[in-house]
Amino acid sequence: MTPNTDRNQQLFERARQRIPGGVNSPVRAFRAVGGTPRFVQRAQGAYFWDANGQRYIDYIGSWGPMILGHGHPAVLEAVQKAAVEGFSFGAPTEREIELAEAICERVPSVEMVRLVSSGTEAAMSALRLARGFTGRPKIIKFEGCYHGHADALLVKAGSGLATFGNPTSAGVPPEVVQHTLVLEYNNVAQLEEAFALHGKDIACLMIEPIAGNMNFVRAQVDFMKRCRELCTQHGALLVFDEVMTGFRVALGGAQSVYAKQIPGFAPDMTVMGKVIGGGMPLAAFGGARAVMEQLAPLGPVYQAGTLSGNPVATACGLATLKEISKPGFYETLGASTRSLVDGLKAAAARQGVGFSADCEGGMFGFFLLPELPQNYGAVMKSDSPAFNRLFHGLLDRGVYIAPALYEAGFVSAAHTAQDIAETVAAAEAVFAAR
Ligand code: PMP
Repeated sequence: MTPNTDRNQQLFERARQRIPGGVNSPVRAFRAVGGTPRFVQRAQGAYFWDANGQRYIDYIGSWGPMILGHGHPAVLEAVQKAAVEGFSFGAPTEREIELAEAICERVPSVEMVRLVSSGTEAAMSALRLARGFTGRPKIIKFEGCYHGHADALLVKAGSGLATFGNPTSAGVPPEVVQHTLVLEYNNVAQLEEAFALHGKDIACLMIEPIAGNMNFVRAQVDFMKRCRELCTQHGALLVFDEVMTGFRVALGGAQSVYAKQIPGFAPDMTVMGKVIGGGMPLAAFGGARAVMEQLAPLGPVYQAGTLSGNPVATACGLATLKEISKPGFYETLGASTRSLVDGLKAAAARQGVGFSADCEGGMFGFFLLPELPQNYGAVMKSDSPAFNRLFHGLLDRGVYIAPALYEAGFVSAAHTAQDIAETVAAAEAVFAAR
């Protein structure tokens, strides 16, 4: 298509005049993969249509929230009804209690929860609460894990133990991240050394249990077990960032997956987002009652939000939670995701492409590497020109995956066996055309 008739291109040029980079969140800009971002016109079920009217099978699902697919009738009805009743009140509603109860019932480690509007806000608030509760300054995070863009968490550079983080973004003074200790994911020796050196000063260890921000890397069971033990031993809080994995890999989140393998396992706090809002701006953080009661207005840790617990967002979240709690939901979703991953692996094998992939529930990841990587350094060894060719090859064939190598993918309940077969066939055609 020439630039004159490509509506995506026209919109992108117009967007760039008034919006930095033409987008309101950087990865949407296709900077890593090149080309013109697709401007979405509408979406339904497993598909969206771009500004040229081209249909795509959607494996982003708004980066995770759309677990039911787009425009699920029960969710739409709940949102429409709530909108008629009022957009926002700045005073409490019964629906907030219902959503809090629904979250606590499904995630037993969460005894109390506070609703916010984004994952960034939830992680930032959980961090402040952990520091307020323990009275300690330092935090542990892992290279390759993303917890939103709060200053103290915007660090991933600098492995090595005593090395405190260097800010990843301009505008974050080094003093602001001086208490952020960045360790290698799945490295037990580093973890032990960090606690040995700084244990009494560590407020919390924050982790993506299945790291979706380096595509798909699981925390190994032994590593997770040591995280739990060392936090308990040193009086630090174990904070699970389940913004991506919560209600996505299982109804009880990734923590329920670890609890099956580590008897009695539970984090002290959990950060949630994405699926609990069903596509509306809604996120949450919660945990043990004793910790949560340190929050204002009960306790000394301040946190607030004009739109927190928004009535339309909570209606959307509740309707979504109701649907995903139906018997067999995760079995079907998991099987469908597994069939995609197995299909892609088989297609790559037939075409002699080095490929590895993994999934849990409705979340998946793949690498153009023969073995699944265990940490960020290994993920970085991926062949990015090959990924970019795969991305554009799929896009040309009507399949939309994340426009960056470091991002997980998402299957929804609306994806059919036919959609998955088409996706695998498209991938095989791209592999074959190398
Ligand atoms: N934590 C994790 C694990 C995430 O994946 C994200 C966003 N992708 C966030 C936090 C931040 O959430 P938000 O974009 O809603 O601020």
